[in-house]
Amino acid sequence: MQIPMVDLQGQYQTLKDEIEPAMLQALADARYILGPNVQAFEQEAADYLGVRHALGCASGTDALHLALLAAGIGEGDEVITTAFTFIATAEAIRYCGATPVFVDILPGSLNIDPQAIRAAITPRTRAILPVHLFGQPADMDEIRAIAEENDLKIIEDCAQSFGAAYHGSMTGGIGDAGAYSFFPSKNLGGFGDGGLVTTNDDAIAEQIRILRNHGSSQQYHHDVIGYNSRLDELQAVVLRIKLKRIDNYNQNRLRVALSYNRLLEGTGLETPAIPDDRDHIFHQYTLLCDETRRDAIKNHVQSKQIACAVYYPIPLHQQKAFADAPRVSLPVTEETSRRCLSFPVFPEMTEEQIETVCGAIREAL
Ligand SMILES: *Cc1c(COP(=O)(O)O)cnc(C)c1O
Repeated sequence: MQIPMVDLQGQYQTLKDEIEPAMLQALADARYILGPNVQAFEQEAADYLGVRHALGCASGTDALHLALLAAGIGEGDEVITTAFTFIATAEAIRYCGATPVFVDILPGSLNIDPQAIRAAITPRTRAILPVHLFGQPADMDEIRAIAEENDLKIIEDCAQSFGAAYHGSMTGGIGDAGAYSFFPSKNLGGFGDGGLVTTNDDAIAEQIRILRNHGSSQQYHHDVIGYNSRLDELQAVVLRIKLKRIDNYNQNRLRVALSYNRLLEGTGLETPAIPDDRDHIFHQYTLLCDETRRDAIKNHVQSKQIACAVYYPIPLHQQKAFADAPRVSLPVTEETSRRCLSFPVFPEMTEEQIETVCGAIREAL
């Protein structure tokens, strides 16, 4: 039995009877750019996430970039973020001409450490960019308090957290803006690239609307140099259909995580804690193992046709692309990158598949 990280082919089979006619209808309607499905999806996503505005764009990376620009981040500014994330988080900061300032994470949640944010603030700091990593919301009460005291913006990287909530509020509406990705393997994934900016701030929303469409709010009137970054109409068709099922998808991811935790008890592996003050939607199921055993476990599991992966093997402060950034030492981040290992998690995953993965892990140990 082959077990992939996510089973997109299996999921397609469960959705095709709804997706295929809707897709053909959109093709025939021929309103391909910012058409009716994009408009409807933006409204449905805003309603679901409990935000005033949701604006589609071309990718999660663009959503971060546009959100930072709309929040006024530019040349010479510093943005405090985590190094234990996908590179897009910090690329977006660089696109604005600003400098990413990497700080350490908390052991356990693997999310940005609020105390480390406090210690990294300088007169140039303009924003904090927390990532809700692996589907678990970061410590937003603490981060908001720091932002308020120091007059900083908060841009949330929600690429892995569609449907995750913190103290009852969905991610993406807690800071000044949120950035979502619809890359196919995300919790809410399209059939290609796509992204979304969420905000409760009318001025930020207006800026995003202009920036994503060549700096224009009225056709052929260009107020600023903008971008071509719109959510594709055909992606919106797919996303509307999957959005209706997102709670079920996320509940099933939690089911999978709980089963893993139960089946791996007593192995000595550090399995993820299930927080009770926030909804972790398990975009990834990531545990920590002894760093001398990590690669052997990974190789054994993969030899059984079971996918497993290291997210992330090289933290951003150690990437060549950021070699010109100030040198920092981030002990928790560095240790985590040597110990982390992620296993398959997808809503359709059966208990038998979970048992097979855990059997392979136990064999490796
Ligand atoms: C996927 C991801 C992104 C980028 O999203 P794209 O849609 O691939 O551009 C940004 N941040 C994080 C944490 C991600 O996982």
